Amino acid sequence: MRPNPIVGQGTPLHQWQASTRLAELPVVSVEQLVPEGHRAVIIAPHPDDEVLGCGGLMQVLATLERPIQLISVTDGSASHPGSRRWPVERLSVVRPQESAQALHRLGLPLHSLKWLRAGFADSEVAAREAQLAAFIQRYLKATDVVFTTWREDGHCDHEAVGRASAQAAHAVGATLYELPVWTWHWATPEDSQVPWHRARKIPMTPEAVARKRHAIHAFASQLEGDPQAGLAPVLAPYVVERLLQPFEVVFV
Ligand SMILES: [Zn+2]
Repeated sequence: MRPNPIVGQGTPLHQWQASTRLAELPVVSVEQLVPEGHRAVIIAPHPDDEVLGCGGLMQVLATLERPIQLISVTDGSASHPGSRRWPVERLSVVRPQESAQALHRLGLPLHSLKWLRAGFADSEVAAREAQLAAFIQRYLKATDVVFTTWREDGHCDHEAVGRASAQAAHAVGATLYELPVWTWHWATPEDSQVPWHRARKIPMTPEAVARKRHAIHAFASQLEGDPQAGLAPVLAPYVVERLLQPFEVVFV
């Protein structure tokens, strides 16, 4: 196993903004990714990844009236280990509530979104990867378009969910697209570990970026650390800013 690459402040936003490689990525539209008559299935390791990775994409899906099925794999209750302010019992209740609030802030009409909580243990998805793949497969149809975290995103759950989703999508013949989330932290624009040849850019309007920002601010538990337990916020300001560029990226 490679060491945890999510340390320090990561690659600064200005480095991404200055990248010609990123600027020149081919553009793809949401209509191309999820054609009419197809359903989008968004598989999020933790409650917040759906907004961090594809909060812009989801807004367009809602406008296009595409049905959306969201699957939250874990309740995210391992985000503050050892914290008395954010114990597991509190996080397991609060984090799904934060997601519900964030989805509301994105302006997703409730009738277009179905939400399933898979109930896998946070930080331990890899140990039950085969069960997760079987679980996902039960909910997929061949015509579905699946969006999930990139299987090399640098967080053990993101990678396990990416692999399990890929396996399930392959088994039923569904289309799979992967989203970088923590990649923006540890990678650089020149990083050869990132499959740039598969990367496509979904442009976002300033209004869509503003709604995504508002939605991210629903994740209070993640914006707050716990100094008493020596925990920095998971979503520190520099992390949030990196995820609010005027586009989202999918690996096709
Ligand atoms: Zn996550």
